[in-house]
Amino acid sequence: MKVINTIKEMQKLSDTLKAQGKKIACVPTMGYLHQGHLSLITRAKDFAEVVVTTLFVNPTQFGPNEDFERYPRNFERDCQMAESAGCDYLFAPDILEMYPIGFSCNVIIRNVTDKFEGERRPGHFDGVALIVAKLFNAVRPHASIFGQKDFQQTLVIKQMAKDLNFGIDIIIAPTMREPDGLAMSSRNTYLSKQEREDAIILFKALEEAKMAIDGGCRERKVINAIMHKTLRSVPQIKIDYASSALADNLDEPDTFLAGDRIVLLIAAYMGKTRLIDNSLVTIPKGK
Ligand code: AMP
Repeated sequence: MKVINTIKEMQKLSDTLKAQGKKIACVPTMGYLHQGHLSLITRAKDFAEVVVTTLFVNPTQFGPNEDFERYPRNFERDCQMAESAGCDYLFAPDILEMYPIGFSCNVIIRNVTDKFEGERRPGHFDGVALIVAKLFNAVRPHASIFGQKDFQQTLVIKQMAKDLNFGIDIIIAPTMREPDGLAMSSRNTYLSKQEREDAIILFKALEEAKMAIDGGCRERKVINAIMHKTLRSVPQIKIDYASSALADNLDEPDTFLAGDRIVLLIAAYMGKTRLIDNSLVTIPKGK
C-alpha cells in the first residue's frame, strides 16, 4: 500500500489509473480504523480494482466544544490495518493541504440536514459535505463507500453527489457491531469499562423498537417512547434523541404504513462520549 499526501499527486495517480482502464473506489475515514472501516474497504473491492482509503480528521465537521483535539489518532496502526484489508492507496493529506490559508469555500446541503444530527450539531454536515466534496475532487473515484452507521450522513452525501453531478456511485455498507451489539466506533475508545458495558443499551433500544414494530406497532410516538424507555433503564445515559422517521427523507408521519422503509435513530451520551446508532426496518404488510 502506498501513502499519498498531496492532492496533486492523488489526482495524477487517479488519471493514470483511469488511463489504464481501472476502476477506483474511495473509502473516506477519519482514521483510528476498526473492523467497520475495514468492512468498507472489503466492500470497495467488489466495485473497483483499486481502493483508495482517505485518512483525514476533518476540523470543519467538529463543533467548537467537540472532540477534534482529542479524537484518537494512530497513523502506523491505520496503515497496517488498511493494508491488511486490501487497500491499495492511503490518501492522508495534512490540514494545510486540505485547508490552505485563505480557504473560503463552504458546501451547504439543505432539508435533509434540518433535524437529528444536523439540528444537534450545527455546521457538522456543512463540514462533512465540504471535505467529502474535496476528497471526491482529489481521488476522482467511480464509487465511494459509506457506512450506514452514520445514516443521516449517507443521505447528505447522496444528495450532494446528485446535486453537484459528481457522477460517483454512492454505496452504503451495513454497520459492523461488537459481539454484544454495540456499533463499532473510533469513539468507543473513550468509554470507561462501566460505560462500555452500559453502551449496549443503544442496540437494545433499537431491537425493542423493532420487536414492537414486528408486533404491529405503527405509531411513531409509541415507537419513540419504547426506545426512550429502554434507554432510561441505564440511569447514567443522557438521551440526545431517540426517534423514528421515513428512511428516504427523514419525514416523521404520525403513523407509519405497511411497506414504509423507516429508520430508528439514537444519539446519546455515555458520560462525555456521544454515541449514535440506527436501524432500518420495513413496516411489514398485513399486520
Ligand atoms: P469515521 O472514520 O468515523 O468518519 O467513519 C468513516 C466511515 O466508516 C463512514 O462512512 C462511517 O459511516 C463508516 N463506519 C463507521 N463505523 C462503522 C461501523 N461500525 N460499521 C460500518 N461502517 C462504519
